Amino acid sequence: MQVGARPVFADIDQKTLCLLPGSCAAAFTPATKAVLLVHVFGHCADLERFHSLCEENNLALVENAAQAIGGEWHGRRLGSLGRGGAISFHPTKNLSALGDAGAVVTSDSELAERLRQLRSHGRDGTGRHAYLGTNSHLDELQAAFLRLKLGKLDAEPARRRELAVRYNAGLPRDVRIADGAEGGISSYHQDAIRTDRRDALKQFLLERGIGTGDYYPAPAHSEPAAAAAGPFPLLPETERACKEVLTLPVRPSLTDEQQKTVVDTVRRFFAGV
Ligand SMILES: *Cc1c(COP(=O)(O)O)cnc(C)c1O
Repeated sequence: MQVGARPVFADIDQKTLCLLPGSCAAAFTPATKAVLLVHVFGHCADLERFHSLCEENNLALVENAAQAIGGEWHGRRLGSLGRGGAISFHPTKNLSALGDAGAVVTSDSELAERLRQLRSHGRDGTGRHAYLGTNSHLDELQAAFLRLKLGKLDAEPARRRELAVRYNAGLPRDVRIADGAEGGISSYHQDAIRTDRRDALKQFLLERGIGTGDYYPAPAHSEPAAAAAGPFPLLPETERACKEVLTLPVRPSLTDEQQKTVVDTVRRFFAGV
């Protein structure tokens, strides 16, 4: 919206919680320029479908990989699959700085040059400014922290995946577990489960010392900030997910024993004991 584009929201897939290709395609018009895919919780959508949709309709695929660093699709890193990908290094993210930081990745060298200019008030190599940019430098100190942590990037998702596999095996059938599409490896930024008793489960866990997250209690298209781009169609799956999704602890430092406590407590909730 800040660059004059109008966002058109589409509905999400129940399992991956990512954009649903069919709903997305139904929203295309001749004015459509790009598909913005959010790898929510680090899960990947069916990227095969999105690649062909974008190719057939001459659209740019843009990835919001803020939560997805470390995740993969058929051996390729999430964030590197479209025209450009945005990665967040916010302290809460999988590869975290000690303050705010982020990056855009692209294999398009012209776009890369333009992005370099945009992050620096629009200044080009000759010191001239062809267009307005912003001050979006990566702080040197944060860059130094990130360079150190980058070397450990692959160990983190491995531990997160291990925890996710164990949640999958141990949680009761009362909850449905979100996961990436077949062919992808999630970064498991969060381990998201779904239940229509979300709020009661959250409270039950909290009373027993287990913190959980109910991210996105309201869908983006209902935010007052988006209202100017509306009205938007009904998005029932999105609305439902906002009421049902709960994220369980999945930080790599979580011990096996702590995870077992979480699993046992969730089981006790559904067993009513
Ligand atoms: C964290 C996050 C952002 C924002 O990242 P910043 O580094 O704070 O700009 C955007 N989208 C998603 C999906 C995120 O998780």
